[in-house]
Amino acid sequence: MQIYLINGAMKSTNRRCAYCKKKVPTETAKINGLKAFCSTDHAIAWLETEKGKDTLKKARNKKTKEARERLLTRSDHIKLAQAAVNAFVRFRDRNKPCVSCGAMPEQKYGGSVDAGHYLSRGSRPNLRFNTFNIAAQCVKCNRWRSGEAASFRVELIRRIGLDRVERLESDHKERKFDIEYLKRLTKIFRKRLRIYKKLVDR
Ligand SMILES: [Zn+2]
Ligand SMILES: [Zn+2]
Repeated sequence: MQIYLINGAMKSTNRRCAYCKKKVPTETAKINGLKAFCSTDHAIAWLETEKGKDTLKKARNKKTKEARERLLTRSDHIKLAQAAVNAFVRFRDRNKPCVSCGAMPEQKYGGSVDAGHYLSRGSRPNLRFNTFNIAAQCVKCNRWRSGEAASFRVELIRRIGLDRVERLESDHKERKFDIEYLKRLTKIFRKRLRIYKKLVDR
């Protein structure tokens, strides 16, 4: 160790043992990816300290979070964002009847409600997250009657006006939803739903 201290150029190759704080030459130090130690015994001893446990836990959490994020593809993020937007629309429309057949919420088939797209996600993917294009719809209309586009349109005009409906219909602007955008969208709509629910609770 003294050699390193005398030779200034080699000073930087010293590490400090995280447990006993003594300096150790890098080539003899035990390094576990988090910290350096003078010996295996001190590496093990350090992991038993509160500081060691805490550091290890944080490193693990960060690793699993990163691994989880890496596993999600763009299409997973599209699904997450769509679910967040749809949940918001279902709540927004919770007291409204089915947009295309007028069935009231309690009469809706199976008691469950879909978030139906006026212009379908397949034909108009650029409008898939546009909340003017989405409304609470009974499962029957949404899944078995192909969305009942004609009656959907009539009711949508009544709700948001002809002008907005026509703007939707003529909106062919291509939108590239990249992962960062999709993540933001998910976050925003989850938050919006929480705020809406809180306001209703009061
Ligand atoms: Zn040590
Ligand atoms: Zn319906």
